[in-house]
Amino acid sequence: MSYVITPPATVSVPVVGRPERFPVNRVYCVGRNYVEHAKEMGFTGREAPFFFLKPSDAVVAVDAGQTGSVAYPSLTKDFHHEIELVAAIGTGGKNIKAADAMKHIYGYAVGLDMTRRDLQGEMKKQGRPWCIGKAFEQSAPIGPITPAAQAGDVANAQIWLQVNGQDRQRSTVSKLIWNMAEIIEHLSAAWDLQPGDLIMTGTPEGVAAVVAGDTLVGGVAGLESLSVRISA
Ligand code: MN
Repeated sequence: MSYVITPPATVSVPVVGRPERFPVNRVYCVGRNYVEHAKEMGFTGREAPFFFLKPSDAVVAVDAGQTGSVAYPSLTKDFHHEIELVAAIGTGGKNIKAADAMKHIYGYAVGLDMTRRDLQGEMKKQGRPWCIGKAFEQSAPIGPITPAAQAGDVANAQIWLQVNGQDRQRSTVSKLIWNMAEIIEHLSAAWDLQPGDLIMTGTPEGVAAVVAGDTLVGGVAGLESLSVRISA
């Protein structure tokens, strides 16, 4: 096969204990999936899960023990962190029932749903798509994927983020409004899930702005932590 332009490289994420990497297809994100975060964004109560996407090349894959680099993006004055548990889909499918969902998961990682909050807010106000607030370059830093069998009890794990050594977000994955299996049921009713898809499952409360020079370290108990530095 030859192409009229150079095809883009496959985006991939390291896997704990394996030399092979996990190739990324789509990056799905769940909106407002922790009650206390929904409240801080001005919403209350359980609503049906909703989704948005980031392009695969928004992923910044960070190796274990390394600090990745995220450039402070254009157009914003309010660049926010959202620490999230990420599920990596190993087996695709459509109309997957929650009872069957967990076997579609290859593994888990720690991710950041970096957000141009001011631009997202303006789009919300105008009823326009969130892409400019959510789906830009380097908006999805992700640490190494731990295969599900080695990941421990992720559903009840502590999730946290520190900025420059200070706590910003701390909660437990058990506070997800829609759990992993329910997310997969809802997602796969709307899209055909593919091997290589990543699902960012939502962030707990405490989202706030970062500036150039900040170092973000986030974790989910049982998984490799994620470290990134914001560059100018
Ligand atoms: Mn998010």
